Amino acid sequence: MIDIKNLSVLYDGNTAESLSDVNLSLQKDDFICVLGKSGAGKSTFIRCINGLQKPTSGEIYLDGKTITNASEDGLRKIRREMGMIFQHFNLIPRLSVLQNVLTGTFGYRSSFKNLIGWFTAEELDFAKSVIAEVGLSEMVDRRVEQLSGGQKQRVGIARALVQQPRVLLGDEPVASLDPGTSNHIFTLLKEMHARLGLLTVINVHDIELAKRYATRIIALKDGKVIFDGLPENFMEAE
Ligand code: ADP
Ligand code: ADP
Repeated sequence: MIDIKNLSVLYDGNTAESLSDVNLSLQKDDFICVLGKSGAGKSTFIRCINGLQKPTSGEIYLDGKTITNASEDGLRKIRREMGMIFQHFNLIPRLSVLQNVLTGTFGYRSSFKNLIGWFTAEELDFAKSVIAEVGLSEMVDRRVEQLSGGQKQRVGIARALVQQPRVLLGDEPVASLDPGTSNHIFTLLKEMHARLGLLTVINVHDIELAKRYATRIIALKDGKVIFDGLPENFMEAE
């Protein structure tokens, strides 16, 4: 589904590449955890996949269509196929759960249309059904600043899913959460992966979480892929 060919990233001013000749093929039924120490290149990898970071060389294709050399318009379409979740959630604190989730549809709306009145009844019903799926039905109208960390990430997941993506990308989405909450979030992500057939690629630094939930582990070190395979074959020393 996503093909990555000879991908390298050298940031301006750096002497070492942050990604170095990465070659990978990511399949629709993969639930991938990307492991690596801080600075290994995990964020850069995710940003290249969703087109936020232009590689220095190499290509990424989504179902055969280039991401790396897409036009602005092409890139906008590609991003709509990719939901993103973040370590610090990136929610708008004083807006409600529903309003935040509706901002997930900004891809094809002007920026101030996150007011509930601008959406059709069908769109509001769909957003609410996604909020129910992440377990927050009771909190639809609650301001997100009043929620716990785990609940905020559930809102982040709903916002990513409301655009009906085919790929879900996460940049350390549980790094700010306690272990119990992290497990709840991964259980939810795994359910969504199975039910929606979403290729899922999540950066984590917690090896135990990756081993528990991933169907495939990709480990990076100094921008290079040092492991790509089944969790049971992953050795911590790598
Ligand atoms: P990780 O997510 O695994 O911590 P990153 O992709 O953030 O790794 O970083 C990989 C390497 O690239 C690090 O050495 C980091 O300092 C460097 N780097 C990341 N972003 C930039 C940037 N915008 N400019 C310069 N160097 C960067
Ligand atoms: P926290 O521990 O920070 O409150 P959690 O992620 O554990 O965050 O849970 C967030 C909310 O979702 C809680 O109100 C919890 O009761 C509810 N919840 C937890 N797991 C599920 C689940 N599998 N399905 C539906 N709701 C859940």
